[in-house]
Amino acid sequence: MIEKVLIANRGEIALRIQRACRELGIKTVAVHSEADRDLKHVRLADESVCIGPASSTDSYLQIPNIISAAEVTDAVAIHPGYGFLSENADFAERVEDSGFIFIGPKSDTIRMMGDKITAIEAMKEAGVPCVPGSDGPLTNDDERTIKMAREIGYPVIIKAAGGGGGRGMRVVHSEGSLLNSISLTKTEAHTAFGNDTVYMEKFLENPRHVEFQVLSDTHGHAIHLGERDCSMQRRHQKVVEEAPAPGITDKQRKEIGERCAEACETIGYRGAGTFEFLFENGEFYFIEMNTRVQVEHPVTEMVTGVDIVKEQLLIASGEKLSYKQKEIKMRGHAVECRINAEDSKTFMPSPGNITQLHVPGGPGVRVDTHIYNGYRVPPYYDSMIGKLITHGEDRQSAIARMRTALSEMVIDGIKTNIPLQQDIMRDSAFREGGANIHYLEKKLGL
Ligand code: ADP
Repeated sequence: MIEKVLIANRGEIALRIQRACRELGIKTVAVHSEADRDLKHVRLADESVCIGPASSTDSYLQIPNIISAAEVTDAVAIHPGYGFLSENADFAERVEDSGFIFIGPKSDTIRMMGDKITAIEAMKEAGVPCVPGSDGPLTNDDERTIKMAREIGYPVIIKAAGGGGGRGMRVVHSEGSLLNSISLTKTEAHTAFGNDTVYMEKFLENPRHVEFQVLSDTHGHAIHLGERDCSMQRRHQKVVEEAPAPGITDKQRKEIGERCAEACETIGYRGAGTFEFLFENGEFYFIEMNTRVQVEHPVTEMVTGVDIVKEQLLIASGEKLSYKQKEIKMRGHAVECRINAEDSKTFMPSPGNITQLHVPGGPGVRVDTHIYNGYRVPPYYDSMIGKLITHGEDRQSAIARMRTALSEMVIDGIKTNIPLQQDIMRDSAFREGGANIHYLEKKLGL
């Protein structure tokens, strides 16, 4: 077993990783910016190292500083969490070249999945259903491109191979604007990602976002932990997540889940990962793979009982997966509400001092957060300050528990999106289940 892990992240996920390490008897090294000395996991860590000023460019994204911190503390492995450097193939490579274990897939895998065209190619080959599209980069042959779009059928979407974070995409509704849209997307992609390769996909008009969680060890064995529905989004940011996804049958779960697990075995995937799909009219369409732990992993943990972060640590230690596919059973339903330090109407960030904190509790309630009474939410980072997760025997009871939990939660001194979450939990379309990815923005009048 790995003896010491450096946690290259901050906030709730750093604390989550630290808890898993503690349970396994692994020592932890916290790295933090000058603005983050008072983070809960920094206080609780066996060792901590300041890696730079508040700005994440100068701290959490500074590869040499993180490697140096691992060297001086004799860490064995580095857990990147989510965001920051977690999907940076160069970082993973530097970590391993410096003699540390990267808790995630091999850098080559991250690189392959980071390029959407190679990712789609690999998935198609492994039998994962993809969106009908150009099957490769668009070329300068305009006639061919026009013909292709006709065959796929409008609307189509032009996407940058190197895109991310919802950027580098453009929807085209008719042939008249096709070529111009392609050239605009290419220019944008070149500026934003240094790579002007673009491809074309059928644009699905009202899909849901459904994603599958996988775990894959270094002994050629992969399993899936079922799916999550993350369709409640604002500006491509997930707001509420749940597991299982409403209306997905056991047969569909088995079919798609097994395809994903098989794909992991085929490509020699290592660690935890997520296959993201758009789901429309009963069909799944792969869009991308996330090669890291995700914010919403707890809903899967609540329904399967599998500790995903612990499995990541075991896999990185070279252990076999603790579970066989047939041992994975979905029990009940789980919902997660992201709690953000922001105005619930204008979405303006609201950093500041937390003067009062009361966290909810009771059966089936889980709170993943690093905040505490007197904690000062810094203005420099993502506004998410925690996650409230509830579990119930069915969807209805999970939502009922969430409503109670939200009403018990008190965070004074800053504004939060709790009123928005309460509104969503009361919303009839949400309660019915199966709303699409545009629903929340429409509801908000955006
Ligand atoms: P990113 O890496 O930037 O997050 P994705 O490929 O995951 O990009 O796409 C982000 C979002 O864009 C999706 O969740 C979906 O809302 C929308 N999108 C992407 N591809 C399509 C498509 N073919 N049809 C409809 N919407 C799409």
